[in-house]
Amino acid sequence: MTNLHPDVENRFEPLPTPARALAIGAHPDDIEFGAGGTVAGWAQAGCHVVMAVVTDGSKGSWQPEADPAALVAQRAQEQQAAARALGAAEVMFLGHVDGELEYSMELRAQIASLIRTHQPDVVLSHDPWARYEIHPDHRATGWAVVDGAVAARDHLFFPEQGLNHHRPAALLLWRADEPDHWENIGQTFDRKLGALLCHESQHHTTMGDAGSSASERAAFEHRLRERGRSQGAAVGLDLAEAFKRIGL
Ligand SMILES: [Zn+2]
Repeated sequence: MTNLHPDVENRFEPLPTPARALAIGAHPDDIEFGAGGTVAGWAQAGCHVVMAVVTDGSKGSWQPEADPAALVAQRAQEQQAAARALGAAEVMFLGHVDGELEYSMELRAQIASLIRTHQPDVVLSHDPWARYEIHPDHRATGWAVVDGAVAARDHLFFPEQGLNHHRPAALLLWRADEPDHWENIGQTFDRKLGALLCHESQHHTTMGDAGSSASERAAFEHRLRERGRSQGAAVGLDLAEAFKRIGL
């Protein structure tokens, strides 16, 4: 976070650009919506960004004739393209079935292993405490990330992994009810938008027909910009992504 007005800096503690970050989303495109501008800015500043997508995206279509296997393959390619657009170093696909993710000790261990392997300074994901979050995969992923981070930190958890324990400095949780941390995305909004538009299979679902015409695409950009503005308004930033920040 740079070039903040002093009044803004007084509202929260800016986070230094991490050397390593791990962003974990339930579905292809969740990271881009929640934190795309943030990770793009960090990557540009030299941060090693790893993205992990927990489910295979096989239910991300409203077309009755969609072939789930073809959709999984297409969405993986779209996610790779989006990661390149953001400047991420790597994308991991955990491959759980979309829409059927259940919180389990196995999932918690999987997340702890990711954190121990990639050793991020900051982990970003869904806020599991967010009220009225209806998607079960978002809730399950959020819980597994919070609990997995605690497990990764303490060496007596999952010793069978044979990995060094690792303590990230912070968790940043997007779509939080009570955000207390903001990242300025004024310089990276276009990369966030570009990364989202890589998810062509989603243009007719979560992106509200962004692919159907230039005007629909402009309308999607407008909605995304308005979301960035409303998140930034709390701290006087033009465009921001808002998070709940938790120290470990
Ligand atoms: Zn999602």
